[in-house]
Amino acid sequence: MSEANLTSDIIVVGTGAAGFASALGLAQSGWRVALVGRPDLRPTARTVALFDRSLRLFENLGVIDSLRPDFAALETMRIVDDTGSLFRTPPVEFRAGEIGLDVFGENIENHLLLAHLLHAARNTPGITLVEGEATHAISDETGADVLLDDGRRLRGKLLVAADGRKSLLRKAAGIATREWSYPQVALTALLSHDRPHREVSTEFHTRQGPFTLVPLPGKPGAPHRSSLVWMMDPREARRRQAMDDPHLAREMNEQSHFLLGRLELEGPRGAFPMSGLVAETFAARRTVLVGDAAHGFPPIGAQGLNLGLRDVAHLVDSLTLGEDPGGADALARYQASRVSDVRSRVAGVDMLNRSLLSGFLPVDALRGFGLMAIANIKPLRKMIMREGVAPRGTPPRLMRVQNTANRL
Ligand SMILES: Cc1cc2nc3c(=O)[nH]c(=O)nc-3n(C[C@H](O)[C@H](O)[C@H](O)COP(=O)(O)OP(=O)(O)OC[C@H]3O[C@@H](n4cnc5c(N)ncnc54)[C@H](O)[C@@H]3O)c2cc1C
Repeated sequence: MSEANLTSDIIVVGTGAAGFASALGLAQSGWRVALVGRPDLRPTARTVALFDRSLRLFENLGVIDSLRPDFAALETMRIVDDTGSLFRTPPVEFRAGEIGLDVFGENIENHLLLAHLLHAARNTPGITLVEGEATHAISDETGADVLLDDGRRLRGKLLVAADGRKSLLRKAAGIATREWSYPQVALTALLSHDRPHREVSTEFHTRQGPFTLVPLPGKPGAPHRSSLVWMMDPREARRRQAMDDPHLAREMNEQSHFLLGRLELEGPRGAFPMSGLVAETFAARRTVLVGDAAHGFPPIGAQGLNLGLRDVAHLVDSLTLGEDPGGADALARYQASRVSDVRSRVAGVDMLNRSLLSGFLPVDALRGFGLMAIANIKPLRKMIMREGVAPRGTPPRLMRVQNTANRL
């Protein structure tokens, strides 16, 4: 084979949030990293809520100060049962202070997060940004190659697949997946409204899925803003997609019960068919999977990227400088660190989503009593809150912060 155009320790493929975070975490740990992708910074009408440990990761990666102006805090999470079920419960509110936090997390527009991470990657000496698309990946005893669409070849010892749900690297490593779909589409939009959100995120649980309003920072001319993820039947999604802004806003207002006053759409909308995916293993043939390449599920409880960032932090902990980063020991450590966290999140979100879709009375009753128990039994309530923002156990190094009492 011809000589490689670039040799590094680790090749990260994918310039989504998981890819950038991987490159930053690995380079700051002393690895030479090539980061392959075509960063897409176009606005997407989508935001991401980052929980406490993800914020610590960004703090440790040195990017939190640049993110802060674009953050909106999530201090309270409110669940409103709007299913019309016989076992409907009153609204349930969870406050960050109940588990010793100032806030559960921060919400940020996806493209702004990526822009800040790209800036940090450009300014990190151990990272070489390689603009392009990976078309092939091949591994052997001593290393792995990634071929790009322009014919260049990169050589490394470990490949990090951060290339999203349809991951090419996952397929190249021979890793199978379990995949399924839901009869739902998520419509997304950024909204301005009359009343302040007061740092409260509200999930209306409807028969077709949650309608979730998440705080955003105000801007000139629009002091009160939120993002919306509205899950619904695909036919309803098509009908609503065909509507002009004022008509769609009217249906959003009805569904929100005017909680924030009048809602108005800000710019374009997004539409995402809902599906689930989990890889059968998270490491094979000098390749590790992080983020949506490893797992995917509907946006309920803001779990997706938070889980992906835990992949990243555990990956950094699984590697030891001086050892082969793509060797069997490192891969086994990474695999062991991810199995239970990933599988339990995938199962938990799936169960919650299906319980909303089910009109079956016993399921309704269970969900209703479950919510009631969470609302009223203090230790259970705290446990669910803690588990929602972070799994039990010692956090990986990049998600720890010393010298602060206000942390999980
Ligand atoms: C409506 C909605 C709301 C959500 N809200 C939240 C939330 O509040 N909190 C949360 O934690 N999660 C949320 N999520 C989930 C979250 O958005 C995803 O988990 C996260 O974006 C995945 O990031 P990633 O970097 O793993 O993958 P992606 O964002 O898919 O990035 C993959 C990147 O790889 C690139 N790529 C693919 N193939 C190649 C190739 N061959 N060569 C080079 N590059 C390649 C792609 O172009 C892309 O840039 C939400 C998801 C949806 C749909």
